[in-house]
Amino acid sequence: MSLLVVGSVAFDCLESPYGKVERAVGGAATYFAVAASFFAPVHLVAIVGDDFSKEDAAVFKGRPIDIEGLERTTGKTFFWSGRYSQNLNERVTLATELNCFAEFKPRLPEKYRNSKYVFLANIAPDLQRDVLHQVKVKPKIAAMDTMNYWIERTNAELRETLKHVDILMINDTETRELSSEHNLLLAAKHIFKMGPSTLVVKRGEYGAMMVDKHGIFCVPAFPLEEPHDPTGAGDSFAGGFMGYLASVGSKSDAFLRRAMVYGSVLGSFAVEQFGLDRLLQLKKPEIHGRARHFRKLTQFKL
Ligand code: AMP
Repeated sequence: MSLLVVGSVAFDCLESPYGKVERAVGGAATYFAVAASFFAPVHLVAIVGDDFSKEDAAVFKGRPIDIEGLERTTGKTFFWSGRYSQNLNERVTLATELNCFAEFKPRLPEKYRNSKYVFLANIAPDLQRDVLHQVKVKPKIAAMDTMNYWIERTNAELRETLKHVDILMINDTETRELSSEHNLLLAAKHIFKMGPSTLVVKRGEYGAMMVDKHGIFCVPAFPLEEPHDPTGAGDSFAGGFMGYLASVGSKSDAFLRRAMVYGSVLGSFAVEQFGLDRLLQLKKPEIHGRARHFRKLTQFKL
């Protein structure tokens, strides 16, 4: 079952204690698409400028990622630059240059309009809603991400979009800000009243937590000795999570739990090297090997 993603494709400048990369192909939709493509065919909707070359687009090549929905326009591609602290837990955004992304009006090619699995990466909430309107039949799962910028500046628009999605996948700071609740469980209750029936809270090196009508499920982050660059970990998590669900075609509790593990697995690979480097070398058996490792990590007897 194919999976639709809409979001940013970008050039990133990344700096961490492990080094610096000046111009890496990145963007939320890119990380999501590459991660999800290990499980299911992906339909990508995004925009790039005329500085985005064939070589740059090679990150999508040789994978089941359809880029008919990747619009090309004149001008520059979205540019983002960030620097991480010594322990990689804090990040400062040094630059966000929207460039052609400022004019982005997502248009779904006809063949994308029957998508049963939809992920709305971090873009303006009214654009996220517009994408959902272009999908002909109500998707089996519509999930979305957002960020403090939209929570603060377009709160009413965001709340309107939230009414139409099943799963909200955000980090702990965003969860607290959106709900005005410090406690994440109280925050989840609050968020359920806004529309989503499942909340996935991404908590960086502390793992991820899913809350829904079945209860709470937590996965750790995979312990790594030398993470290099956390950029895109959240989007790769979302790609592993949604890609897995699209591949099994079910949203029962057991599959949602496994999706959490595959999300964590893809997020953990993403941070091992700069930008997309590790995901681009990744092989499917490594994914399953790490998933088995997760089982060992969390197994105990009572
Ligand atoms: P994450 O580390 O999960 O927050 O994702 C980082 C990726 O999101 C980078 O590759 C950026 O290009 C992209 N990004 C950063 N800021 C924005 C934004 N305001 N809108 C869309 N994408 C963004």
